[in-house]
Amino acid sequence: MDLDAFGAPTAFLPLALEAVRFGGILYLASTDGRSFTGHDRTAALRRLGAAVRAQPCSWELALRLQLGLIARAAWGLGRGIRPLLSFSEGRTFRCAVQVLRHPAVGEEHLLGMQAYCHHCGSHRGMALLKIRDLVHCGCGQQAVLSGPLWRGALQDVEVLQQLQALEAGTTRPSATSASLRLLQRLSGDDGLPPEASDVADLARQLGGGPPPLESLLARLRQQGWCAQASGIALGQFRSNAPWEEVVREGAKAR
Ligand SMILES: [Zn+2]
Repeated sequence: MDLDAFGAPTAFLPLALEAVRFGGILYLASTDGRSFTGHDRTAALRRLGAAVRAQPCSWELALRLQLGLIARAAWGLGRGIRPLLSFSEGRTFRCAVQVLRHPAVGEEHLLGMQAYCHHCGSHRGMALLKIRDLVHCGCGQQAVLSGPLWRGALQDVEVLQQLQALEAGTTRPSATSASLRLLQRLSGDDGLPPEASDVADLARQLGGGPPPLESLLARLRQQGWCAQASGIALGQFRSNAPWEEVVREGAKAR
């Protein structure tokens, strides 16, 4: 089912989910960037039932809010979801999810809140089932909160690799080279951990220019942390290292 909504797809979502058979795929697009990125907060509340605050990783925020909306609608019908593909070019926010007969064990833990601290630039998140103080940032300032949103994977890397293999094996290719590049980029980032950061925002903390992304990621990995470039937006990355550690390694990577 391909639901390509002009604006927000909220009204059609339960009907679309009902129409998809178990194991089938709902491919959903929305164009309501202003609400989904936190630039129209009251509209975001009406359309998403969520608090949304503007922050540097806005495309990812919009995609996670959209997936959170899909998850809640699916759970309301007793179903579960598995995101296969999520991406944006800044105007349209697209997600393909497989609709499952039941939620997977623990799927409810994937709905949560995300905090962003305008003072120190840290992003933190928490499952709604475990929610406690998320407002107070480690730097002593108060963070802004967005959610509920999806904190699970954004891509199913295995499915994306299968798509690439299918395309490579056919004598009549159907994907454009831009689509193939996108698939390649997305299959390098499953979207976990669910909080991304922006190197330009890190540069603001460091004062001066941004560190080269690859050397920052390499340094973090040398220290034993997970670190990868975001497939959602260029110049963004995700790591399970504490933000102070990212700032420290960012300073050394320049
Ligand atoms: Zn802070």
